[in-house]
Amino acid sequence: MEDTIAAIATAYGEGGIGIIRISGENSLSILNKIFTPFKNSKIESRRMTYGTINDTSNGHIIDEVLAVYMKKPSTYTAEDVVEINCHGSIISLKRTLELVLREGARMAEPGEFTKRAFLNGRLDLSQAEAVIDVIKAKTDKGFDVAVSQLDGQLSSRIKEIRKSILDLLVEITVNIDYPDEDIEYLTYENAQKQIKLIGDMIENLLSTADTGRLIKEGIKVAIVGKPNVGKSSLMNSLLRESRAIVTEIPGTTRDTIEESINVRGIPVNLIDTAGIRDTDDIVEQLGIKKSKEAFNSADFVIFIVDGSCGLTEEDNEILELLKDRRCLVLINKQDLGSVIDKELFQSKLNAADIIPTRLIDGEGIDEIESYIEGLVYGGKISQKESVLVNNVRHIELLEKSLKSLNDASQMIGAGEALEFVEVDINEAYALLGEIIGETVSDDVLDEVFSRFCLGK
Ligand code: GDP
Repeated sequence: MEDTIAAIATAYGEGGIGIIRISGENSLSILNKIFTPFKNSKIESRRMTYGTINDTSNGHIIDEVLAVYMKKPSTYTAEDVVEINCHGSIISLKRTLELVLREGARMAEPGEFTKRAFLNGRLDLSQAEAVIDVIKAKTDKGFDVAVSQLDGQLSSRIKEIRKSILDLLVEITVNIDYPDEDIEYLTYENAQKQIKLIGDMIENLLSTADTGRLIKEGIKVAIVGKPNVGKSSLMNSLLRESRAIVTEIPGTTRDTIEESINVRGIPVNLIDTAGIRDTDDIVEQLGIKKSKEAFNSADFVIFIVDGSCGLTEEDNEILELLKDRRCLVLINKQDLGSVIDKELFQSKLNAADIIPTRLIDGEGIDEIESYIEGLVYGGKISQKESVLVNNVRHIELLEKSLKSLNDASQMIGAGEALEFVEVDINEAYALLGEIIGETVSDDVLDEVFSRFCLGK
């Protein structure tokens, strides 16, 4: 971390402004070499200065910019930082960056600014990981969860649990080291109780993991049904714009279409499929093969039937495939009357829920959206809950830590000596420490920060 790093911090492409970020010891001296303030104004920490970037080899103006120098330690990286606001032109940004590198900075690696923030103690590891989630969030809800993690809410929860473990460890150690002293004796029963409480705290966090991940990564939903039942109409209603062709000719949706939409804060990847049915048409067969693949890769299936004409052979084939899967069945075209007996239909499917719809005018869409929302929140988690675990690394560490505690609990149950119990509890403590980066290897750090974009 001795050297000074630089990168383009804004997205590539045309824009109003584009920013070069520099961090490290030489940030200010590099700025002084390449920047000419307007009317010889002085560069002061945290004040934007207007001026020009001039090529140091020939004095030519590269761009008119606003530059700011931020003195350490209260900066993003906790080092001296300079940001140069150029015009949002690739050429300007490239030339300015080249100049900065020529004057002694090194090109930053992806995530290196945030890595420095972590190594300098400005952020803990789970907060640093939240930075990437903030940038990549697809929905408002995903964004809110990421911002709360950046704010340190997950970290505080982890620290709380670690504090409880530490308290228990202290008691155990005292009992091991000074068994004869006049101290409060830690009974096995009491230790068992404390372990249980700590385990419950970890389990509470883990119970948010499914929802947390769905909010971050989205849910993959396949829409199936024979041709002409209203699959495209459903897609369109959900998309609220006609990107999938709605047509009355069966089988024109030959291939699958996938669209990502935002259903009440949940990213939903919709897979529209060609009707699943036997056919001699090669092109359509390909579509059907794809449908089955899509169907298998989906987290959830919405099956549409035409309520006005009853179940056909094709419907029954799909039903057979869906028999034991949790799915949502829409009995569509209610405006044309329904000849499908809901109870009889329900009895053919083990884990299906049924909603009657009139997709031609969007009737039922609200209910479908609520249903999807219910799938993700599972009725278990309040939407206001802001501490959600959504990072695979965190989930694994929480699970391992819980296992160590369970091992400790079993040893106590078997009447083993406290020395052995202590090892497992220590392990649980260290594993939780990895979430916030207190005990973490360089490999893990490299892995975490390699997921970042340049300039962050
Ligand atoms: P897909 O082949 O399954 O994608 O079906 P489409 O969405 O293309 O719909 C086929 C036809 O049924 C279109 O003409 C739609 O307008 C019509 N349709 C869709 N939903 C309804 C509905 O609820 N009632 C009526 N009467 N027609 C519908």
